[in-house]
Amino acid sequence: MKQSQKSPTKKQIVAKLTRYDSEAFLRDDTYTGNDLGATCTNEGTAFCVWSPLADAVQVCLYTENTAASHTAAVPDVRIPLQKSSHGTWYLKMEEPLHGTHYTYLVTMDGKTQETTDPYARACSANGIRSVVVDLSKTNPEGWENDHGPSLAKPTDAILYELHIRDLSMDSSSGILQKGRFLGLAETGTHNKAGLFTGLDHIKELGVTHVHLLPCFDYASVDELCPDFNWGYDPANYNIPEGSYSSDPNDATVRIREMKTMVQALHAAGLGVIMDVVYNHTSTADSHFNRLVPYYYYRMNPDGSFSDGSACGNETATERPMVRSFLVDSTAYWAQEYHVDGFRFDLMGLHDIGTMKAIRARLDEINPQLLMYGEGWTGGTCPLPETMRATKQNISLLPGIAAFNDNLRDAIKGSVFNEKEKGFVTGRKNLCEDIRFGICGCAPHPQIHLENVRSAAAFWALSPAQCVNYVSAHDNLTLWDKLACSFSTGTKSLRIRMNKLAAAIYMTAQGIPFFQAGEEFLRSKPAADGTGFDENSYRSPDSVNALKWDTLTKHYAVYEYYRGLIALRKAHPAFRMDCAKDIAAHLSFLANVPENTVGFLLHGHAGGDVLEEICVLLNPNRVAVPFDIPDAVWEIYADGERCGITPHGIVRGKNAMVAAVSCLILGH
Ligand code: CA
Repeated sequence: MKQSQKSPTKKQIVAKLTRYDSEAFLRDDTYTGNDLGATCTNEGTAFCVWSPLADAVQVCLYTENTAASHTAAVPDVRIPLQKSSHGTWYLKMEEPLHGTHYTYLVTMDGKTQETTDPYARACSANGIRSVVVDLSKTNPEGWENDHGPSLAKPTDAILYELHIRDLSMDSSSGILQKGRFLGLAETGTHNKAGLFTGLDHIKELGVTHVHLLPCFDYASVDELCPDFNWGYDPANYNIPEGSYSSDPNDATVRIREMKTMVQALHAAGLGVIMDVVYNHTSTADSHFNRLVPYYYYRMNPDGSFSDGSACGNETATERPMVRSFLVDSTAYWAQEYHVDGFRFDLMGLHDIGTMKAIRARLDEINPQLLMYGEGWTGGTCPLPETMRATKQNISLLPGIAAFNDNLRDAIKGSVFNEKEKGFVTGRKNLCEDIRFGICGCAPHPQIHLENVRSAAAFWALSPAQCVNYVSAHDNLTLWDKLACSFSTGTKSLRIRMNKLAAAIYMTAQGIPFFQAGEEFLRSKPAADGTGFDENSYRSPDSVNALKWDTLTKHYAVYEYYRGLIALRKAHPAFRMDCAKDIAAHLSFLANVPENTVGFLLHGHAGGDVLEEICVLLNPNRVAVPFDIPDAVWEIYADGERCGITPHGIVRGKNAMVAAVSCLILGH
């Protein structure tokens, strides 16, 4: 595409920003219609694009798929759009142009630039052109009957964070469609030992939702010769990523294949969460900026792009047309692709009003749609702190959850210091932080905030706002973190620490979340042989891909995770969704041994069949005795085993808890 010849001056930029924020612009140039993009049916095709400052807009139509050599390509026709209401340009054509490639030529400030359409629903390989699509032609068979699992409350969810490529790239996966949407739709796959891999493994594990790292169209991977990238560099928000399709050159294939993947996950009883990255675009020279310069971005007073994402720019979600873009985009994925929720990258860069507007729109579609995000920013952001959708402000956003970094760091130590230990690795004075996390960071009468090291306030209104975890794509895997922070320990001891870590966040009030492979001690040794890769966003598949033969090696750990998940699903006591219920039904045991935590879920908490559940956490390197209420207790979990069927009895009011382990009892 043509580059702009001369950069605008600071004065010109400021003049535009002043205009965007003027009353006249807000009144006359904010478009509220729902027909932006190219809409194609058998009756014809309509183009509608928002570019209020343009002097002229033409659509370029390319009937041949020449995108691969686009620099030499010339459109077959250029047709002017007519200026329409509220800053839009419009063209209606009689022909159904399904499959036709298009771009816009925008004339503004004396120059003309070509751009793709930010509202496009399909594109050519690598997003070089937008493509007209009749979406009714993209549905897999049976799509009209497809729906996700029902979720009575957010705390019933158990989230499994997965990168599409990671799942299948390693030969041990046994998956044929390697690195593709369809790889996640394959069933009947197994590793060398005959253990389930891929979709069947996830189903057997028992999680409720698969949370997918970015699978909208991102920029960094050549779709025609793909390699690994996490994908946090958005190109086209409303289009699936082409490198995950079997044919990036055919614009409809990626759409149909992503839908097929969603359908397969739903058929397995699993929900699908999309990781969405609306906080920045891969480049500031984006379709947004070519259509409405600087409108979509937060700018510094000197005319440069603000960089709260630490990726070169940040979107101005507080502006009405950016807000409505996010609202419409999430609604589109929920309705057209049947996804079951969203994880917002750097949600702290989004303004509270926008997040509320998204929640309200998703509630109209299905109130069960999950919303959660990173309650922080990536860098300095000009949006006032009181307006940001951060963890600190999450109580202003009912129905939206934030990642609980307090519990994460208390359990395993800081993610910013690989050697720092946490509760499970033997660091002392973290019990109150653990207790704080166990309550879902919502108010509880037994928590003394002055003793919580990592938080000054109860930030969650309810545990439904709290995502509990110890591993994600960012930072070291849990197993690697244990290796770095407890390098002198034996492997068997680190396995006990790992199990204890999992037992804490799986029995904590809130929404549990973990990185794919944590259940079989996933490791990412650095490609250069030096330590571990804690930022593998563009590391090779050899680092990132799940190694399914390690599942065989660590099968006992996997069984333990399965047991914890089954136990959580069987017992609503772990899944209360209201802080008041937790205050009434969760009590911490007094007089516990030093450096331990014990709690009781009592009074058939959450409607549980068990009258009482007792969870005892001992990170100490020796067994310790706990005083517990006098009863005949059945053992659901200890340091070795966990499941819904008890495997032993503890009688009376004393329980010994083995070194570095948890004991979960019930009666
Ligand atoms: Ca792409």
